[in-house]
Amino acid sequence: MAGTVTTKVMIISDTHCFQFGDAEKVRGTFKQPLPKADILLHCGDLTERGGLKAYQDVIKMLSCIDAELKLVIAGNHDLSLDGAYWYTQGCDPDDPKDYAEHEKGIEIMKGPLAKQAGITYLEEGLHTFTLASGAKLTVYASPYQPEFCGWAFPYERDEDRFNQPHQSAPLVKNIAVNPVPDFPGIDIMMTHGPPEGILDWVASPPGTTVGCHALLRAVSRARPLLHCFGHIHEAYGAMKVTWKDDKEKIGADAIEDLRPQPNVYPDSSNCSIKFGKETLMVNAAIMDLNYNPRNSPWLLDLELPRST
Ligand code: 5GP
Ligand code: MN
Ligand code: MN
Repeated sequence: MAGTVTTKVMIISDTHCFQFGDAEKVRGTFKQPLPKADILLHCGDLTERGGLKAYQDVIKMLSCIDAELKLVIAGNHDLSLDGAYWYTQGCDPDDPKDYAEHEKGIEIMKGPLAKQAGITYLEEGLHTFTLASGAKLTVYASPYQPEFCGWAFPYERDEDRFNQPHQSAPLVKNIAVNPVPDFPGIDIMMTHGPPEGILDWVASPPGTTVGCHALLRAVSRARPLLHCFGHIHEAYGAMKVTWKDDKEKIGADAIEDLRPQPNVYPDSSNCSIKFGKETLMVNAAIMDLNYNPRNSPWLLDLELPRST
């Protein structure tokens, strides 16, 4: 394709304190060392319950991966990275050390050791990067997901965090501060939670889908090359969505076809994705439902636009 740069992208999520260096100790395992990539994406649930030592260990884990650009978001388990949550429900306000964990945690995630290792911790919104190869990417990131059992980065099921008010479904409360732009505004979406109906089915009760309706509306408008997430460990996998030509169609109505994609790790999938017509959806949860690291990273060759 003219005007693009082939870029190796590795996607992981839900490592929950796992160190890839320990993989030999784990049955099922990963091919070691992890392959080199141009971009590493981590879609949240870095830790079990946050904690400064845990964030430092996450930086160590990410430092061991060879990639020029490492984009990282938090998830519901990274409790103190969510300031709004931490100060109202997470911390003990009478314990100064506990109270300070939000600021100190963010300092670790954005600090000099993280920078040296090529790690960029992303807050919700749009972020643009250019690689040494000249590949340019605009990423929409969000660590938020529907409220579940009182964890961090929550929104309610009847709230829409991802669309402009006129783009929300009827009777939904729009709370978007950073709405997702329409096509062709973004190349990659990184969220902790899945969109409704795509790699979002839970083990119990069987067949239940728990992904976000508003997020599906948003991704159907944005039609990025890649939307990666995690959160629902048992729904690990990848699917290529083909969108209908009619860009007025929104949400599930916009989907023409949904096709499972195999993981060929440690090789990389050469997925030719037609921008605006197709989106590769990847649930990259490394941990299975029992928090055992049984799932491989995803490795893709993605055609990104060349910076002009
Ligand atoms: P985590 O606690 O790591 O965020 O999610 C672990 C597991 O909790 C998921 O694999 C899924 O089984 C379950 N889970 C997470 N969010 C939801 C939800 O919104 N609804 C339901 N029913 N289960 C969820
Ligand atoms: Mn998780
Ligand atoms: Mn989660």
